[in-house]
Amino acid sequence: MPTYNGGCYCGNIRYELSLDSPDQARMSICHCTNCKKFTGSAFGITAKIPASAFRLRKGQTTHHVGDNGSGTQLTREFCGACGSGVLEYGAHAGENVYLFYGSLDEPDALPPKGEFFCKERAQWLPEIPGLFHKREVKE
Ligand SMILES: [Zn+2]
Ligand SMILES: [Zn+2]
Repeated sequence: MPTYNGGCYCGNIRYELSLDSPDQARMSICHCTNCKKFTGSAFGITAKIPASAFRLRKGQTTHHVGDNGSGTQLTREFCGACGSGVLEYGAHAGENVYLFYGSLDEPDALPPKGEFFCKERAQWLPEIPGLFHKREVKE
Protein backbone atom coordinates (compact mmCIF):
# COMPACT_ATOMS: atom_id res chain seq x y z
CA MET A 1 0.00 0.00 0.00
CA PRO A 2 1.78 3.19 -1.13
CA THR A 3 1.99 5.92 1.47
CA TYR A 4 2.56 9.61 0.75
CA ASN A 5 3.46 12.36 3.19
CA GLY A 6 2.49 15.98 3.01
CA GLY A 7 1.82 19.13 4.94
CA CYS A 8 1.49 22.89 4.77
CA TYR A 9 4.13 25.51 4.00
CA CYS A 10 4.92 26.38 7.64
CA GLY A 11 4.93 22.78 8.89
CA ASN A 12 2.16 23.18 11.50
CA ILE A 13 0.10 20.63 9.58
CA ARG A 14 1.42 17.22 8.56
CA TYR A 15 -0.56 14.36 7.07
CA GLU A 16 -0.25 10.88 5.66
CA LEU A 17 -2.07 9.50 2.61
CA SER A 18 -2.42 5.72 2.21
CA LEU A 19 -3.72 4.43 -1.12
CA ASP A 20 -4.32 0.96 -2.54
CA SER A 21 -2.47 2.10 -5.66
CA PRO A 22 -1.32 5.46 -7.11
CA ASP A 23 -4.25 5.33 -9.58
CA GLN A 24 -6.69 5.60 -6.68
CA ALA A 25 -5.79 9.31 -6.53
CA ARG A 26 -7.63 11.06 -9.38
CA MET A 27 -5.50 14.18 -9.76
CA SER A 28 -6.95 16.91 -11.96
CA ILE A 29 -6.50 20.55 -12.80
CA CYS A 30 -9.43 22.98 -12.50
CA HIS A 31 -9.38 26.32 -14.30
CA CYS A 32 -12.58 27.71 -12.73
CA THR A 33 -12.66 31.19 -11.24
CA ASN A 34 -13.35 29.82 -7.78
CA CYS A 35 -10.16 27.68 -7.79
CA LYS A 36 -8.16 30.68 -9.03
CA LYS A 37 -9.46 32.79 -6.16
CA PHE A 38 -8.79 30.25 -3.44
CA THR A 39 -5.27 29.34 -4.59
CA GLY A 40 -4.32 32.85 -5.72
CA SER A 41 -2.92 31.12 -8.78
CA ALA A 42 -3.80 30.30 -12.41
CA PHE A 43 -5.65 27.07 -11.59
CA GLY A 44 -6.42 24.62 -8.82
CA ILE A 45 -4.94 21.13 -8.83
CA THR A 46 -6.32 18.49 -6.50
CA ALA A 47 -6.62 14.71 -6.23
CA LYS A 48 -9.92 12.98 -5.54
CA ILE A 49 -9.16 10.45 -2.80
CA PRO A 50 -11.24 8.38 -0.38
CA ALA A 51 -11.64 10.39 2.83
CA SER A 52 -10.49 7.31 4.77
CA ALA A 53 -7.10 7.41 2.96
CA PHE A 54 -6.21 10.73 4.61
CA ARG A 55 -4.87 10.90 8.15
CA LEU A 56 -3.87 14.11 9.92
CA ARG A 57 -0.68 13.50 11.91
CA LYS A 58 0.09 17.00 13.21
CA GLY A 59 -1.94 20.18 13.73
CA GLN A 60 -5.52 21.10 12.89
CA THR A 61 -6.89 22.63 9.72
CA THR A 62 -9.03 25.76 9.60
CA HIS A 63 -12.31 25.35 7.69
CA HIS A 64 -14.03 27.73 5.30
CA VAL A 65 -17.45 26.93 3.87
CA GLY A 66 -18.81 28.85 0.92
CA ASP A 67 -20.86 28.62 -2.27
CA ASN A 68 -18.70 27.24 -5.10
CA GLY A 69 -20.42 29.51 -7.61
CA SER A 70 -23.07 27.02 -8.74
CA GLY A 71 -25.04 26.63 -5.54
CA THR A 72 -23.03 23.82 -3.93
CA GLN A 73 -21.56 24.33 -0.48
CA LEU A 74 -17.80 23.79 -0.70
CA THR A 75 -15.65 23.25 2.38
CA ARG A 76 -11.97 24.09 2.19
CA GLU A 77 -9.47 23.08 4.84
CA PHE A 78 -6.22 25.02 5.07
CA CYS A 79 -3.51 25.97 7.55
CA GLY A 80 -4.70 28.87 9.69
CA ALA A 81 -1.10 30.02 10.18
CA CYS A 82 0.35 30.01 6.64
CA GLY A 83 -2.77 29.61 4.47
CA SER A 84 -1.73 26.50 2.51
CA GLY A 85 -4.68 24.59 1.12
CA VAL A 86 -4.87 20.98 2.26
CA LEU A 87 -8.35 19.59 1.43
CA GLU A 88 -11.59 20.62 -0.24
CA TYR A 89 -14.93 18.83 -0.69
CA GLY A 90 -18.42 19.72 -1.78
CA ALA A 91 -21.65 18.83 -0.03
CA HIS A 92 -22.12 16.02 -2.62
CA ALA A 93 -18.59 14.58 -2.52
CA GLY A 94 -19.77 11.56 -0.52
CA GLU A 95 -16.92 9.52 0.90
CA ASN A 96 -14.33 11.42 -1.12
CA VAL A 97 -12.24 14.50 -0.49
CA TYR A 98 -9.91 16.49 -2.74
CA LEU A 99 -6.27 16.89 -1.70
CA PHE A 100 -4.21 19.87 -2.90
CA TYR A 101 -1.33 18.74 -5.14
CA GLY A 102 1.28 21.14 -3.80
CA SER A 103 0.70 20.02 -0.21
CA LEU A 104 2.31 16.66 -1.01
CA ASP A 105 6.02 16.39 -0.20
CA GLU A 106 6.57 14.68 -3.58
CA PRO A 107 3.65 15.79 -5.74
CA ASP A 108 5.17 14.40 -8.96
CA ALA A 109 4.25 10.93 -7.65
CA LEU A 110 0.58 11.68 -8.47
CA PRO A 111 0.45 13.52 -11.82
CA PRO A 112 -2.81 14.95 -13.18
CA LYS A 113 -5.11 12.89 -15.44
CA GLY A 114 -7.24 15.70 -16.82
CA GLU A 115 -8.28 19.34 -16.91
CA PHE A 116 -11.70 20.76 -16.00
CA PHE A 117 -13.32 24.13 -16.76
CA CYS A 118 -11.04 24.64 -19.77
CA LYS A 119 -13.41 27.40 -20.92
CA GLU A 120 -11.95 29.50 -18.09
CA ARG A 121 -8.33 28.55 -18.79
CA ALA A 122 -5.88 31.50 -18.68
CA GLN A 123 -5.40 32.66 -22.28
CA TRP A 124 -1.61 32.38 -22.07
CA LEU A 125 -1.72 28.81 -20.74
CA PRO A 126 -1.65 25.96 -23.32
CA GLU A 127 -3.49 22.66 -22.87
CA ILE A 128 -1.41 19.93 -21.28
CA PRO A 129 -0.95 17.16 -23.86
CA GLY A 130 -1.97 13.61 -23.00
CA LEU A 131 -4.67 14.61 -20.49
CA PHE A 132 -8.45 14.67 -20.97
CA HIS A 133 -9.99 18.12 -21.40
CA LYS A 134 -13.49 19.20 -20.33
CA ARG A 135 -15.03 22.60 -21.06
CA GLU A 136 -16.74 22.49 -17.67
CA VAL A 137 -17.14 19.36 -15.58
CA LYS A 138 -18.99 16.88 -17.77
CA GLU A 139 -18.23 18.07 -21.32
ZN1 LIG B 1 1.05 26.15 7.82
ZN1 LIG C 1 -12.40 24.80 -9.87
